[in-house]
Amino acid sequence: MTPHMTIGGERAAARAHFAVINPATEENLDDAPACQRDQLDAAFEAALKAFPAWSNDEDTRLAMLSELADRIVAAGPELVDLLVLETGKPRDLAEIEISACKTWIDYAIATELPRTFLARDAHANIEMRHRPLGVVAAILPWNFPIVMTITKLAPALRVGNTMVIKPSPFTPFSSLRLGEIVNEVVPAGVVNFVSGGDEVGQWMTAHPTPRKVTFTGSIASGKHVAVAAGADLKRVTLELGGNDAAILMDDIDVGPTADAVLARAFFNAGQACALPKRVFAPAGLYDEVVDAFTAAAERVQLGASDGPLAMGPLSTRPQFRRICELVTDADAHGVKATTGGGRADRPGFFFQPTILTGASAGVRIVDEEQFGPALPIIPYSNVDDATRMANDTMFGLCGSVWGQDLERATKVAERLECGVSYVNSHGVHRPSVPLMGSKWSGIGMEHGLEGMLEFTDPHVVFVAPRLTDTALT
Ligand code: NAD
Repeated sequence: MTPHMTIGGERAAARAHFAVINPATEENLDDAPACQRDQLDAAFEAALKAFPAWSNDEDTRLAMLSELADRIVAAGPELVDLLVLETGKPRDLAEIEISACKTWIDYAIATELPRTFLARDAHANIEMRHRPLGVVAAILPWNFPIVMTITKLAPALRVGNTMVIKPSPFTPFSSLRLGEIVNEVVPAGVVNFVSGGDEVGQWMTAHPTPRKVTFTGSIASGKHVAVAAGADLKRVTLELGGNDAAILMDDIDVGPTADAVLARAFFNAGQACALPKRVFAPAGLYDEVVDAFTAAAERVQLGASDGPLAMGPLSTRPQFRRICELVTDADAHGVKATTGGGRADRPGFFFQPTILTGASAGVRIVDEEQFGPALPIIPYSNVDDATRMANDTMFGLCGSVWGQDLERATKVAERLECGVSYVNSHGVHRPSVPLMGSKWSGIGMEHGLEGMLEFTDPHVVFVAPRLTDTALT
């Protein structure tokens, strides 16, 4: 592991360190640089200094983003190696993460900021435009370190901002290496990469320089970020946790539906924000559904490095402890595991793919975001009942409805209180489609034109005729 922090286009000397663990072995991977306060100040200063030139030259920005996409593709194998080591995810999932970066950058390049004419008459030409905010602070979680950095970086740079970026302390190396690659392309100071613990995130949100904080992480941290950003009226986008419902309609083809829902629920070992985390099944089909999910979970290949059924360990020790704790708590409340139910008998943070029956609201595994491969299946008597249970939460990221009758399923999906409702799919993202949470799952949007606009301030330009041409209006 050699990646360094990049501040003002230069490698920053590490004056303090923190340990990073390989979740597949529980061994120390290496020490990562812990950013010091004066280094963070230098990063923000460099970003501020780089802003005027960067924001004034769109052609250069587009050309550099295009070059960056190519460089990430070229560095793919190296970045994949780092991702596998620090997240534990299967190699092909890491490859998908890296190859997605070009798609997101290409979308940003192709997306133009709108100029909207609000009035064009004898009295004035009035136009709504958008301009960059200045310096953006980006704070990232550990589950998709590279692609999530790119989904923030591409639109933020596209519209002319400069940045200071902090990856999760659990997965700093791939991001720091990405930072070195980015800095081979963009001018010094445009994008600064620092690493460190939660306190560095707190310094970033309290720092006077950034005009926006874009944050992806837990609801608990998101609330702190909102308070800190609010104190300085910084713009803020929060993409936070989810406890998504998947409602199975009574016309499902049980086997294929169970396979499809489970594949989404256990994607990245269940460690993604927008995945089915509570499954609601019609009471009349309940036993058949549980059997099908159990069979699907038993086909998962824990520890395999490739293939559609491969699943890695939990990526962090706290997350591993959390999933162990939630399943133990469920057991104490009479919830049964039809398969799995505990840690795998091997080193590393591997947890057995687990299907749970007999869980309901009031048990933590249902009420909280588990973020791991343990899925409760809850019976419902009618669709109103299922919708009520699905919505009876302060989470509101995504949700899904699965069934053959698309019209009926869509009507139910429309009633889900969340940012994105899927029918026969879940947690599939496209660069052009905004992602946002309702309730506690977030503020603002990412992705799509709407997400890009969040890296700008609206700006009305009101042009009245020459005073010599007309009377003052
Ligand atoms: P986390 O909140 O613990 O940490 C996220 C980042 O915030 C880290 O870089 C951390 O160092 C930093 N941080 C922590 N406390 C902070 C504070 N008070 N001020 C500023 N920065 C702070 O989250 P995590 O465990 O890394 O990530 C998992 C969570 O992220 C899950 O809840 C998941 O649902 C959520 N998530 C949401 C989305 C989404 O798009 N909605 C996507 C991925 C993950």
